[in-house]
Amino acid sequence: MRAVILQGNGSGYLAELMGADPSYEPVRGSPEVGPWNIIREERANPRMGGRGQIDVLLTVPHSQCSPEGLFHSHPCDTAAKETAFKVRHFLQHIQQGINVKMMPGSVPRAECDLNREECRKTPWRKKVRELMGESLIFLDMHSFYDSESKFGDVDVAVFFHGGRDTRLRLKILSNMLRKAGLRVNEWESDLGTDDLLKEWEGQKWRGASLPGTLIELNESVPNERRTKVAEVMAFWVSDQLAELGGTF
Ligand SMILES: [Zn+2]
Repeated sequence: MRAVILQGNGSGYLAELMGADPSYEPVRGSPEVGPWNIIREERANPRMGGRGQIDVLLTVPHSQCSPEGLFHSHPCDTAAKETAFKVRHFLQHIQQGINVKMMPGSVPRAECDLNREECRKTPWRKKVRELMGESLIFLDMHSFYDSESKFGDVDVAVFFHGGRDTRLRLKILSNMLRKAGLRVNEWESDLGTDDLLKEWEGQKWRGASLPGTLIELNESVPNERRTKVAEVMAFWVSDQLAELGGTF
């Protein structure tokens, strides 16, 4: 797997990270050429199991706002929802026909924190579990305010977890974000509380070794910074999908 990460992914960002020819200009978004058709074909491979129906699953478990004052000063992840829509927008621009599934939360955090084990029995979690089984990449989107931050003065925190392969892939994401001028915190995930990510990790036996992560966006920075995060994330996702196509 090690070598695969650095092969034929068609990424300008990655080419730069690898110290490759900076004049290299990858051609993107054409369904006729490149790795995309290979990915589509490879999904017929029985080793993929049920995966591949959905390319990217985006969850925003705290998107529903509580009535003011009911929960705490940060009743919902407003910026996370906006940014998730932007990730989808950029992905659809980069890869024609990409299947991105969005799952905004169904209930306010005060009613049930959908990112906790206690809420696994809710219809929303049941649906997400089912969608995970069909998805290639999983992104759990959140946002925080400066005032409540444990992440420091950053634009975005990328949650690290898992084994060597996942960590290398997440490192590529955080490097790409930094290269784009964003301030990044690589946060060590606590799978005890990050229950959606935990569930994704638990489903890995169903298919390939796939990256999943939790993203925390700063609500207090200018909107353009979160838009930039969304754009970089879309390129990273696109690269990961291309890698997967070449791996099988
Ligand atoms: Zn959240």
